[in-house]
Amino acid sequence: MTTSPATPLGFFAVDSLLGEEDVAIRDTVRKYVEVEVKPQLAGWYESGSVPARELAVELGSLGLLGMHLEGYGCAGTSATAYGLACMELEAGDSGLRSLVSVQGSLAMFAIWRHGSEEQKQEWLPRMATGEAIGCFGLTEADFGSNPAGMRTRATREGSDWVLSGTKMWITNGSVADVAVVWAQTDEGIRGFVVPTATPGFSAPEIKHKMSLRASVTSELVLDDVRLPDAAVLPGVTGLAGPLSCLNEARFGIVFGALGAARDCLETAIAYAQEREIFDQPLAGFQLTQAKIADMSLELGKGMLLALHLGRLKDAGTLDHRQVSLGKLNNTREAIAIARECRTILGAAGITLEYPVMRHANNLESVLTYEGTSEVHQLVIGQALTGVAAFR
Ligand SMILES: Cc1cc2nc3c(=O)[nH]c(=O)nc-3n(C[C@H](O)[C@H](O)[C@H](O)COP(=O)(O)OP(=O)(O)OC[C@H]3O[C@@H](n4cnc5c(N)ncnc54)[C@H](O)[C@@H]3O)c2cc1C
Repeated sequence: MTTSPATPLGFFAVDSLLGEEDVAIRDTVRKYVEVEVKPQLAGWYESGSVPARELAVELGSLGLLGMHLEGYGCAGTSATAYGLACMELEAGDSGLRSLVSVQGSLAMFAIWRHGSEEQKQEWLPRMATGEAIGCFGLTEADFGSNPAGMRTRATREGSDWVLSGTKMWITNGSVADVAVVWAQTDEGIRGFVVPTATPGFSAPEIKHKMSLRASVTSELVLDDVRLPDAAVLPGVTGLAGPLSCLNEARFGIVFGALGAARDCLETAIAYAQEREIFDQPLAGFQLTQAKIADMSLELGKGMLLALHLGRLKDAGTLDHRQVSLGKLNNTREAIAIARECRTILGAAGITLEYPVMRHANNLESVLTYEGTSEVHQLVIGQALTGVAAFR
């Protein structure tokens, strides 16, 4: 006997946990992604180029840039609504969600939380509309998981600062109007708001990526970039500055990765229902159903975890180590789901005709950036044992 099928997340009655505003924002973003973005994604991915400027303006007009920040033209939504928006964006492509995460949670958040009033007034309203794009330069070629070792240096010359160094793997770098750059100073690590038109600044794009091809990734070269004293973020000194921003963006990934996984699973279920093998639908084989059941279980569990963390964040009680839990679990499960869905699609799964392998490849980056899975395991290990095992 057959009954009408449930969707993987519908089965968990996820909507019963959402408020009206959550649902409205989610549905608006879902429709935008389905209608405006999804038809373009395979082409962008194949060509390895994305119209980031146009996208930023569209995303800004939807109120998605810095959406969980208050004031300065930002929408001021709940953190949970921000997470749900990230999920819908990443159901399109992790590159699209990366654009929004870096803009809102890294570059804008850094200025919003640690910047001067002048820096906020100058950049945040234009970044909220997408008129100005931001990037966030922390990682260097030799210092990813251990950013404390960074070599980029800012030195005082009179009342100016002079920045020298190279950042690597920087999302939005080549299209950015402003870069938030972290550098060593005599006082410890400081953040600098660097207009990208400043002499000595360049941002060559990194090509030949197999992952996040619909996203701009760049090197930032700072060749004696001279900045006024007013360019330093006055509110923070030390690694706590960049880590506070990464925690914001990482929270969006807890939801976002599940969007990619959901898109893979929906694609695989639809494919299995249509595809006839040994004279019957692939969906009718027990092995296929076992895969679909197990993947739905992990997707739903990840969603309940994301929503729980969202509510904790909205209540102001979310600990950064809990964000590590969510990032570790949901990226790990999302990539496992994407790979398993690829098996259901067989050879067709390796093409861009279906989104599955594109998502799987993208999730390789998502697994690595914003703290690798191994680093989050170490964070959780330290929380539970009291012993730091980073070195
Ligand atoms: C597409 C993309 C976009 C990115 N965008 C940005 C951006 O906008 N801004 C930015 O600043 N950075 C960005 N990054 C950089 C990203 O944050 C780093 O790649 C990440 O922190 C890992 O650093 P790494 O690549 O140097 O790897 P490494 O730190 O060299 O790590 C290599 C391996 O060693 C493991 N490892 C590290 N430390 C330990 C340990 N103590 N014990 C055991 N294993 C360990 C890691 O988990 C990993 O498996 C981006 C990266 C990618 C791929």
